[in-house]
Amino acid sequence: MATRTITRTRQETVTVYECDWCATSAGRHPPTCVLCGRIACAEHRKAWHDDENGSDYPYWYCRECWSIGEQHREKVAELDRAIDKETEAWHRKAKEAAKETQHG
Ligand SMILES: [Zn+2]
Ligand SMILES: [Zn+2]
Repeated sequence: MATRTITRTRQETVTVYECDWCATSAGRHPPTCVLCGRIACAEHRKAWHDDENGSDYPYWYCRECWSIGEQHREKVAELDRAIDKETEAWHRKAKEAAKETQHG
């Protein structure tokens, strides 16, 4: 019985992530921009922003998406303050109204 040794090459499919800006490797599990879905290498990711939502998986914004949002974020912050003010006024009014009923 004759034997011989053969070498088999197994085919493997792997996903490699490349920076959408400079095409260099972006590592194994790079974060994606929450708005455009692009990924960046470590160098380009330095310009990214993460929101502070307090979770283990922050939302990441690439530089472009973040800068497009600049005036909108200002407006959102303004509206946030207006909402707080309105809510406060409502709560204060309701508490005062309840007091008047108690003493009347
Ligand atoms: Zn890059
Ligand atoms: Zn983006």
